[in-house]
Amino acid sequence: MWYNNILETIGNTPLVKLNAVTKGLKGTVLAKIETTNPGNSIKDRMAIQMIEDAETAGLLKPGGTIIEGTSGNTGMGLAMAAVVKGYKCIFTTTDKQSKEKVDALRAFGAEVIVCPTNVEPEDPRSYYSVSSRLQKEVPNAWKANQYDNPSNAKAHYQQTGPEIWEQTDGKITHLVVGVGTGGTISGTAKYLREKNPNIKVWGIDTYGSVFKKYKETGIFDKNEIYPYITEGIGEDFLPENVDFNVIDLFEKVTDKDAALMTRDLARKEGIFAGNSAGAAVAGLMQLGESLQPDDVVVVIFHDHGSRYMGKMYNEDWLRERGFLEDEKLTAKTILKK
Ligand code: PMP
Repeated sequence: MWYNNILETIGNTPLVKLNAVTKGLKGTVLAKIETTNPGNSIKDRMAIQMIEDAETAGLLKPGGTIIEGTSGNTGMGLAMAAVVKGYKCIFTTTDKQSKEKVDALRAFGAEVIVCPTNVEPEDPRSYYSVSSRLQKEVPNAWKANQYDNPSNAKAHYQQTGPEIWEQTDGKITHLVVGVGTGGTISGTAKYLREKNPNIKVWGIDTYGSVFKKYKETGIFDKNEIYPYITEGIGEDFLPENVDFNVIDLFEKVTDKDAALMTRDLARKEGIFAGNSAGAAVAGLMQLGESLQPDDVVVVIFHDHGSRYMGKMYNEDWLRERGFLEDEKLTAKTILKK
């Protein structure tokens, strides 16, 4: 038995019980490990969906160029699909993103333009603005626009939601997801809520992002916006793919807690996952007191730890940010003394 191309291997990711980091919580916590997708992230699912819907709609034509502002994972999915389907790719990203992520896109032959992080989305230098300009200037170009493209949430409505429902035998009671474009949480939650409207949906947000305040007050508060370290989640605007109606609440997690929990996933569970997985589990721990013994919580682990080797998996990086201040001495530092 074989697959006809790498894209056919996307999806059907495993659900794995967490045993150590969630100690003290009642209920069963299951991680949906999206790193087994061929691009090592959940974004493979929506990348291929966006491309195929654009092909069907006649927006993306043979030999065309795919343009996107992407923090890496969506780019990886798009770049991989572009190789198989014969498209070119130009991505804009920010200087906050891991070098590993940018290098991985270039490995697939994509062109990557790195833009400054700390400018307004409307600023002509922002990665949103640069990708919009390229869309107009590059011939035969199509901008995927993951923030507002409904194919993003649709991929999760059609795949991620049904997979979780079947894997838990319909027993899922809580869905916990880090929110960026909103595609993962909105599509997955919509499907699961249609199956069981009582399922609780908790969105994980960052300090420096607008989602939580907007959900609680209906106000888009610019004062909520400031730079933060956590990658992949939180935004400084409201993407159309965030369906606030299917999300019960947002919980904010600090950069430090997200980073240390990400590291703990490797050290205590043997799961090498990315920063937003750590953020989601840390957020669950903040909210977890309300859980009951029969609850079945599914937490999405969006991407792979290899993309964060220079960050939370690097002791110097953690130390420089003061994230290890209250940690006990490690063997290495004891030996140095
Ligand atoms: N985690 C990571 C690592 C991501 O790249 C993203 C996408 N920005 C998310 C979480 C959030 O997923 P979504 O865009 O579907 O809300």
